[in-house]
Amino acid sequence: MILCGNPGVQYQAYREEIDLAIKRVLESGWYILGDELGNFELEFSDYIGTQHAVGVASGTDALYLSLIACGIGSGDEVITVSHTAVATVAAIELAGAVPVLVDIEPNFYTLNPVCLESALSDKTKAIIPVHLYGQSASLGDILEFAEKHQLYVIEDCAQAHGAKYQKQKLGTYGDLACFSFYPTKNLGAMGDAGAVVTNNSELAETIGSLREYGWDEKRISVAKGNNSRLDELQAAILRVKLRHLEEGNTARKNIARDYNCGLEGLGFGLPRVNKSNDHVYHLYVIRCRERDKLRRYLRDRGVVAGIHYPIPIHLQPAYLGRLRCAGKLTETEKAAEEILSLPIYPELGRSDVELIIQTVKEFINNS
Ligand SMILES: *Cc1c(COP(=O)(O)O)cnc(C)c1O
Repeated sequence: MILCGNPGVQYQAYREEIDLAIKRVLESGWYILGDELGNFELEFSDYIGTQHAVGVASGTDALYLSLIACGIGSGDEVITVSHTAVATVAAIELAGAVPVLVDIEPNFYTLNPVCLESALSDKTKAIIPVHLYGQSASLGDILEFAEKHQLYVIEDCAQAHGAKYQKQKLGTYGDLACFSFYPTKNLGAMGDAGAVVTNNSELAETIGSLREYGWDEKRISVAKGNNSRLDELQAAILRVKLRHLEEGNTARKNIARDYNCGLEGLGFGLPRVNKSNDHVYHLYVIRCRERDKLRRYLRDRGVVAGIHYPIPIHLQPAYLGRLRCAGKLTETEKAAEEILSLPIYPELGRSDVELIIQTVKEFINNS
């Protein structure tokens, strides 16, 4: 069976280093907010190219705490997309704010800046562009719009560790940027974890306080916070994985190149890369009219393909009929019916990629 993502084989690949890191933490006797997290925050901010990184409990919390730190809450509106992980929209509602959803660019699956104007109101406080599948949203236009209307930009980088827009890494452009280290992400922990990166010292400090009951340095709550800490075990594992992230991203790009070569000319919509972007292929997503049939065909032959995401958020039961959408989300709804994520992870072998390509070709020839 070839899985869509496979964090287990990554453990096997770095087993010695990870086992040592875990042992070091277990024997240290210090399990929350210690040197491992402090060092991971330094190493991760250094890698991304920001002044600060603050570890938190998940990507969802990173988004939620970012909104709170910006003072965004009840009555405020935040513009984002419906074609994303539920977490993006859930975090806005957790903060008490109102999500306003816009359509995507059909070629890139990311927020269409042309739609921003129609989503804007005098209550709009922020935009959350999602760098979906591993490449940047159209940041130039989004940043310009945000600047013009004095809006915060909070980048959702949960699928884009190490990806670039122009010369800089994603996460360096927004006021704040949020990462998830869910196990299957390009940088994945062995449990839940996340981080916020920023160049704004005040916002970094606020998030550092909010993640622990809103404490000041004397452990007195000066703000309404909660508990959202990235523990030492996960931080130690992430430090190991961070050292191998570039190598992992390169492997993903090579797999994507092999897929591109093997699948071109077969009538699929293959991933397109915007010329300003360096894509890190968190997912390799193709478009196909007979998506469900192809998925079943692959599954019957031991290849698990995924759908990210099968139902746009505004059509999911928890949200249906009550989310504000700026116009019709035509491209969002169309994409949801046609997209298919083929297996991709750094340790996926060339022969497996070749097998997947052959199986897809077989499907085309038989249908
Ligand atoms: C994974 C993901 C999140 C949420 O991260 P968690 O760590 O699972 O809370 C948010 N946004 C996007 C786009 C994601 O892919």
